[in-house]
Amino acid sequence: MNAVAKPVFNKKAITDIRHDWSREEILALFTQPFSDLMFQAQTVHRANFDPNQVQVSTLCSIKTGACPEDCAYCPQSARYDTGLEKEKLMAVQAVIDEAKAAKASGATRFCMGAAWRSPKGRDMGYVTDMVKGVKGLGLETCMTLGMLKSEQAEQLADAGLDYYNHNLDTSPEYYGDVITTRTYSDRLETLDNVRNAGMKVCCGGIVGMGEEESDRAGLLQQLANMKEHPESVPVNMLVKVEGTPMADQADLDPFDFIRTIAVARIIMPKSHVRLSAGREEMNEQMQAMAYLAGANSIFYGEKLLTTPNPEASKDMLLFKRLGIHQESYELHMDEKEQEAALVKSLADEQESIKNDKFFYTA
Ligand code: SF4
Repeated sequence: MNAVAKPVFNKKAITDIRHDWSREEILALFTQPFSDLMFQAQTVHRANFDPNQVQVSTLCSIKTGACPEDCAYCPQSARYDTGLEKEKLMAVQAVIDEAKAAKASGATRFCMGAAWRSPKGRDMGYVTDMVKGVKGLGLETCMTLGMLKSEQAEQLADAGLDYYNHNLDTSPEYYGDVITTRTYSDRLETLDNVRNAGMKVCCGGIVGMGEEESDRAGLLQQLANMKEHPESVPVNMLVKVEGTPMADQADLDPFDFIRTIAVARIIMPKSHVRLSAGREEMNEQMQAMAYLAGANSIFYGEKLLTTPNPEASKDMLLFKRLGIHQESYELHMDEKEQEAALVKSLADEQESIKNDKFFYTA
């Protein structure tokens, strides 16, 4: 009988930050037997994080729809008729009120997203005021506003923005099949501007867009070989929205999604890997498997722009059943307050269903 090669682990291999991953090495991780991959991912996860802790962010769409870009998966593009109701930039106070509600539900990071190609000069005062206001509540802040010039990145950093989200979406080779209105190098330039301004980077992609496994490996290779790994790596599963060019895309094998999470965990051992858009279509067992594969961040609450998110309370209940606790949450709240937040989120559930809000792919 042929012996099957087992992954070799040592302390160095599971905590080392590398920036020289080849596509072949990453593909070899993807194609190993599923149990071996999960064992390796879980080993890396445990060496770098509390395996039962998940970071929780809430996303607020501060400006919805009418985006001039042509991202083929996105219902916010003005080019596709998806029935999405567009909304102007929210008032600063309204955003701060949303942030307060998010904090009361246990979120520790508040992400603000605007469907823009890039912010205009006149928008910068509003968005920097939002950052200051949300920071003032004691929340971490994140924004996704499209492409940023270096001076815009500096303005946001000066206002106290902690994270900037800008996804690469897919591999450089597949990118042209998804977006034509901005290039891969445009995206890398924005990410450089964010880093140079001293902010943390949130950057990931979307799987299930018809790409090959080598494209998923290519996306992760780009992320892992950055000078610094993104602190946050969202892995989105395509949400097929009627009216977008990707509406009829074939379903991705759920194990391929889990494999992507696991490989991201192995090659970016100290990054938060975020289980992001597409959770609505995952059952609890699949979400639990994603946590096992090393996902340790989620969006919580009712706002991801492309799809309704599983209601906040469902997440809380699943956390309870799996023995997961929220990162940083316990720093701010004692047991009683946690319980009160859970009760409140249960009460909010019906309201959030009624409101039928939308989610981002970040
Ligand atoms: S993903 Fe962002 S940039 Fe692309 S169309 Fe949607 S909102 Fe615009």
